[in-house]
Amino acid sequence: MNDTHAHLDTLSPEVLQETLRDTQGFALLLSVASRIDDLQTTLTLAETYPWIYAAIGLHPVEAERLAGLERLAALSSHPRVRALGESGLDLYWHPETEALQWKALEAQALLAAQANLPLVLHIRSAPGSDQAERAMARWIREAPPLRLVLHAFSGHYELLEAGLERDAYFSFAGPLTYKRNESLRQAARLVPLERILIETDSPFLPPEPFRGQVNRPSWVRQTLDRLAELRQLSPEEAEAAVDANARRCFRLTEGPSAS
Ligand SMILES: [Zn+2]
Repeated sequence: MNDTHAHLDTLSPEVLQETLRDTQGFALLLSVASRIDDLQTTLTLAETYPWIYAAIGLHPVEAERLAGLERLAALSSHPRVRALGESGLDLYWHPETEALQWKALEAQALLAAQANLPLVLHIRSAPGSDQAERAMARWIREAPPLRLVLHAFSGHYELLEAGLERDAYFSFAGPLTYKRNESLRQAARLVPLERILIETDSPFLPPEPFRGQVNRPSWVRQTLDRLAELRQLSPEEAEAAVDANARRCFRLTEGPSAS
């Protein structure tokens, strides 16, 4: 089992302890740093627990802190860092920093390419709009050669097309279990199995039947089970597939591997 996106640096000590206990058998738990000023919490977890790895980045909601990019460059060769990001476009919380968000994205894409790390993309529009999805679909089509991860993939059609064109990884989260998300489930049927990842985005996006609670990495099971059903696989087969994908995407195995 694995969870390719969790913000362990935001969890309460109790939930973190429970998470460390419940995820010990995981192939990977990718802890995504939430704040550029506090990368150390994430790095310490990744240095301490063998199944925890770090993603470091400048989140779009912090795009005004561009000076932090130097720190990312210095840390991108750290052996426990396995991804850059999350980066991308957030027009929900901070439409006013859009220009800075693009700058931060370009810089992190360059760093990811130089460090041979995947780039984790966050994409969120203002309510009732899909401007961010459409703009990022255009960006993805023209992005430099990179392993791209569409984090908490929404099922947006243009993003799906652009991601498929670029052989991106599509990471499915709790919304795959929500009743009204038929278009997302349709996307989960369409994406090639070897390009599917699963995540919780803990503490956000709790799956059914835990909606309204603080999400935790062990609940990735709910999303995995839903995925298995959609792909007509046994839970064991689905788990083996997403574990292999996570190992390949985040380079957990030795030797040459496909991108
Ligand atoms: Zn996140």
